[in-house]
Amino acid sequence: MEGVKRGRIKTELNRIGDIVMEDFKVNICGVPHKVFRKEDTFSSDAEHFGEIRYKECEIYLSTGMKPEMENQTLIHEMMHGILFGIGRNDLCHDEVLVQALAQAMTGCFEVKKI
Ligand SMILES: [Zn+2]
Repeated sequence: MEGVKRGRIKTELNRIGDIVMEDFKVNICGVPHKVFRKEDTFSSDAEHFGEIRYKECEIYLSTGMKPEMENQTLIHEMMHGILFGIGRNDLCHDEVLVQALAQAMTGCFEVKKI
């Protein structure tokens, strides 16, 4: 009974705004980041399906992507986070560099979900 109640509360919390669920965490430079799936795309860029919030250590992924696209989007956001984490704030907003790194890394390693 109590478990059911807790589950319901969690579901309600997960519906705040348009956040649908927190799925897993990933480590970026040793810092756990929560990964959420969110309905919709981000910012005004229709081709951007993810977002990282450095201060909050959170990554948001758009729902409805095929697994390969979601994985590459996750790696893309992690590349932003890695550049930020190593102190290269001058590079962490460079979308061309970040996407090149993400494409290079995709398929080389599997992201360890924690
Ligand atoms: Zn980006």
